[in-house]
Amino acid sequence: QLSPRLKSVANFVPAGARLADIGSDHAYLPVNLLMNDHIEYAIIGEVSQGPLDNARHELQKRCVSDRAEGRLADGLLAVNDEDKIDTVTIAGMGGILISDILEAASQRRQSFKTLILQPNTDEAIVRRWLTANQYQIIDETVVQEETHFYEVIVAIPGEQTLSELDVDFGPYLRIEKTATFVAKWQKEVDRITVILKQLRAADKTRTAAYRQWQARYHQIQETMS
Ligand code: SAM
Repeated sequence: QLSPRLKSVANFVPAGARLADIGSDHAYLPVNLLMNDHIEYAIIGEVSQGPLDNARHELQKRCVSDRAEGRLADGLLAVNDEDKIDTVTIAGMGGILISDILEAASQRRQSFKTLILQPNTDEAIVRRWLTANQYQIIDETVVQEETHFYEVIVAIPGEQTLSELDVDFGPYLRIEKTATFVAKWQKEVDRITVILKQLRAADKTRTAAYRQWQARYHQIQETMS
């Protein structure tokens, strides 16, 4: 059984995909997709030996080793042209690391039909990287697990122009405004409210920092409403 976060990533994986799951750790995502016969084949990429051992153990335990391969490699160096990988998932890492992995792949002229990305932080950096590197975002979701909110971004090769609001809040998420989206940003509004209160108590209402936090507060409120 996948966690809600990994389930929401799995939901975007096209049926019959040849998948590379980069930074897979226990390989729960590709193993689940293989066990459900949703994908044809998976490469499990890991930069560390310990997590790769976990992944290989999971593949054996779930009897899917014949349709998957664990590889020790940095990012998308795990994937060769002969693997015919069409779908890449990168989940549970910071957005900067995800962008760095995509950038290194792009420098090697690697390109993929579908990217499914789940940054834990810095989602805007991921969206900016995608649009600057000839990917277009075709779908997004936001999911809650306990007190954490996770965004999932799906991209395919193509051109796209995003506004600053799109980059920041998600071009689809900010239009759909699901209850989870609103809850995610309400949490941020609550955090900023505390900061503004502290700045007021310290008599710093005339500082640039105060004005910036105030502007951010109003921007989020407007986007949520
Ligand atoms: N993808 C799984 C998930 O979402 O639950 C596991 C996420 S785990 C927090 C991040 C994993 O990414 C770690 O196992 C780490 O070793 C791996 N990792 C970090 N940088 C990497 C890189 N450049 N290439 C491949 N794997 C990497």
